[in-house]
Parts: sequence; C-alpha cells; structure tokens
Amino acid sequence: MDVGERKPATGAGPGVPERNWAGNIRYAAARRHRPSTVDELRRLVAGSARVRAVGSGHSFNRLGDTTGDLVSLAGLPPTVEVDRERATVTVAAAVRYGDLAARLHAAGYALPTMASLPHISVAGAVATATHGSGAGIGNLATAVTALELVTADGELVTVRRDADARFPGMVVALGALGVVTRVTLDVVPAFELRQYVRLGLPRAALDEAFASAYSVSLFTDWRGDGFGQVWRKQLADAPPPEDGWLGTTAATAPVHPVPGMPAGNCTAQLGAPGPWHERLPHFRLGFTPSSGDELQSEYHLPRAAAADALAALDPLAERIAAVLQVCELRTIAVDGLWLSPQYDRGSLAAHFTWTGDVDAVAPVVAEVERRLAPYAPRPHWGKVFALDPAAVAAAYPRHADFLALLREADPAGKFRTDLLDRYFPRA
Ligand SMILES: Cc1cc2nc3c(=O)[nH]c(=O)nc-3n(C[C@H](O)[C@H](O)[C@H](O)COP(=O)(O)OP(=O)(O)OC[C@H]3O[C@@H](n4cnc5c(N)ncnc54)[C@H](O)[C@@H]3O)c2cc1C
Repeated sequence: MDVGERKPATGAGPGVPERNWAGNIRYAAARRHRPSTVDELRRLVAGSARVRAVGSGHSFNRLGDTTGDLVSLAGLPPTVEVDRERATVTVAAAVRYGDLAARLHAAGYALPTMASLPHISVAGAVATATHGSGAGIGNLATAVTALELVTADGELVTVRRDADARFPGMVVALGALGVVTRVTLDVVPAFELRQYVRLGLPRAALDEAFASAYSVSLFTDWRGDGFGQVWRKQLADAPPPEDGWLGTTAATAPVHPVPGMPAGNCTAQLGAPGPWHERLPHFRLGFTPSSGDELQSEYHLPRAAAADALAALDPLAERIAAVLQVCELRTIAVDGLWLSPQYDRGSLAAHFTWTGDVDAVAPVVAEVERRLAPYAPRPHWGKVFALDPAAVAAAYPRHADFLALLREADPAGKFRTDLLDRYFPRA
C-alpha cells in the first residue's frame, strides 16, 4: 500500500506545491508550471508527454502526481461570473470554494453543499467527487453544468450537461481527461443555517439523527458504542433540538471534532444563525482544517448497509482507535456521474482521520477494507486506499464506459499516473 512517507503537514504554498497538504506525498514531477494565460497552458499541454493538474493539494494519495509536468492553475485570473438568468456561476478552476462562496453570498446566491473545509480548489474537488453531508444533497460535482478544459492535443473545449451524452463521465474525471480551466455550477438563493453540536448519540439512533436536519455529521473515536459528537446544521427557521434529543446532551461551548484541536478553527456553533458558507464547512478558511498531521481514508457504502457495515468493523475497534484521530459518518444523495461514489446509490460515507504514522496506519486501512468488502465499498478517490482494482471496477457500474472514454480522450496516456493505471488499466 502506497501511503507516502511520514512527514508533518506544511500546507501547500502559493506556488506549485512540492508536496501535498498533508506532507505524505512528494510530487515526483520533473518540472513545475504556473501558466498565467490559457494559451500558455494549451501550449504546455500540447507539448508535454506527461502532464497533471494539481489543485490545492489536499488529496492524500498520488492521484495528482506525475513524473512529467505538474501544472497549477493558480496563476490564471480567479474569475467568478454569476449568470442570474440561468442561476449558475462560472468559476476559474483554481478558485477555492471558500473564496467562491463569499463572492456568491455577496451576490445573493449559495451552493447547496460544501466539504468540511473551504480551502480546496473547485476543479480539484469536483475531480474527486468531494462531498459534504445531507440525505437529500448530492456531492459537489453534481452541481456542475459545464466544464471548459484543455484536452490532450491542447484544444480548449467546453462540455455541457444539457448537450453532451458523455458529460456524466467527464465531471468526476480524476484529472484524466484534460486540464479543467473553468467550471460552471448551479446555484441556489442564499440561505441561513444554525449549527448545533450534541454529545453522546447512541448508535441505534443513527438513522433518526441523519434525517433530523439539512446536513448532519456523526463523529466517533471508536472507543465507545455510539457517537461522541453530532454536528447538526439546520435551516435557520427549523426548531432547535429539544432537551434530551435522541438521548444526547447539548454542547455548551464550541468544540473541534478532533480531540485536542482548538474550537476556534471551526465554524460557529451553539445555534447562532449565519450564512450557509460559514456553517456548512466544519472548518474556517484562514485556519488549519482538521489537525494537519494526518492521513485520511473514506469509504462510500450503500446507505441501507450502514448498521451492518459498522457492525462488521466492531471487532477492529481497538486497532482502529489506536491509529485514529476521529471517524466521521455522513450521508450523500444518489447521482448519475459515472465515477461518483454515489452513482446509482446513496452513500453512507465512513471517513477516518488517521494519525500521520503511515507505517501504523497502512495495515489498519487494509483490515478495514477487508471487513467492508462485502458492502462493495467505493473509495474516496482523493484519500488513502488500496482496494483491489477488480473490486473497485465491479463497484462502479460505469467503470468500462469511463475506461473507453479515457482511452479515446488520451490515447497516448499523457494524463496518466500509476494510480490511474492501477484502477483503469491501459489495455
Ligand atoms: C483537511 C481535509 C479535509 C477534507 N474534507 C473533505 C470532505 O469534507 N469531503 C470530501 O469529500 N473530501 C474531503 N477532503 C478531500 C479533498 O476534498 C479532495 O481530496 C479534493 O480533491 C482536494 O481538492 P484539491 O483542490 O486539493 O485537489 P488536488 O488534491 O490538488 O487534486 C485532486 C485531483 O484533482 C485533479 N485536478 C486538480 N485540478 C484540476 C484541474 N484544473 N483540471 C483537472 N484536474 C484537476 C488532480 O489532477 C487530482 O487528480 C479533505 C481533505 C483534507 C486535507
């Protein structure tokens, strides 16, 4: 299992990063580029034998790696263009969700969902089907209505949801079909949320808790039976949780989901109303998200299998707890994007924030994967996993269609990486 090396996070800098945010992956690129125009990018892609785009470097595996040319789009103008007639926004690929959200909110608009951190680039997050939580809410990629990208031959093309039959295969594309320069997203009217943290949810109340609000996350350290924290993000006009809600107690001060980390890094809690983008993420832009010295894995399981899948991990609880900072459960709605972990199946997402100790974490990840295998787990593409490629192919009904698209769009393997070759073989 390749989980990189032991190295504390330094965070990706403003240039083309040498390492990912977590520090466990040193990009193997021979050359780094930060074009300032799309034409410069097109020439670079056309003339390169091996090229990958990197976003904000928040993935934990070698998906964004290349031995050739690593290109950051952070030097292109950070445009954000709202189309009020269509209720969409077209945003430059490298813009961070947090920056996009502030601009959208000022214009009276919102995104239905955000990840736990607003620090990630739009194109990088969409490419891996990054998600938040909400029983009726799709992942971030489901909002995409159009993509502008530089293809392997250096052409600049635009693909649209309403015009291209293969669009559902091109959105969650793992950087394998080209370098995305602009992304168009559906937007909704701006809204307000209140965030409450409740303590001590019994596992038996999981379904009720998930159904209780707009966006719900459950956190456990795998040391007890249930969930130490419930993060309930509810529409501002919904009634607050009543006393004794599902056997929980109210947190009386702000908390951080990772033990020992400062609550000041997190978005406002205690039911204070606030704009969607200051409540949907757990972590605040400008502050370290999560803990920093960590690895992450995440497995998307059929929503209905939640209780059984958790029970399957119970015998492993002590080993999980020994290398765990925190485990988060979320739900995500079904969609039709070929490589989305929610393709044709709503998810229970079981996320693990491990310690940064790669040697200690790797065997536990392998055992978690072995125990979840009966539930056809789909990995988060941007996190640490080592699932059997045949099992991954079997878990994605459109795997063969994506493979065909990939071979046609990039016959010379310009955008390929070892990780892509493993899960999407060339021949
Ligand atoms: C602290 C922390 C919290 C996280 N929380 C969540 C969460 O709540 N939910 C969740 O689902 N995930 C979460 N993640 C994972 C993260 O959202 C994904 O790994 C996401 O892909 C990171 O986006 P990025 O911009 O850093 O992309 P990178 O890691 O830089 O790249 C990811 C992929 O996108 C491709 N890519 C980047 N830019 C482009 C482009 N312009 N054109 C084509 N391809 C491109 C890269 O080649 C690569 O394959 C978290 C990660 C961290 C570190």
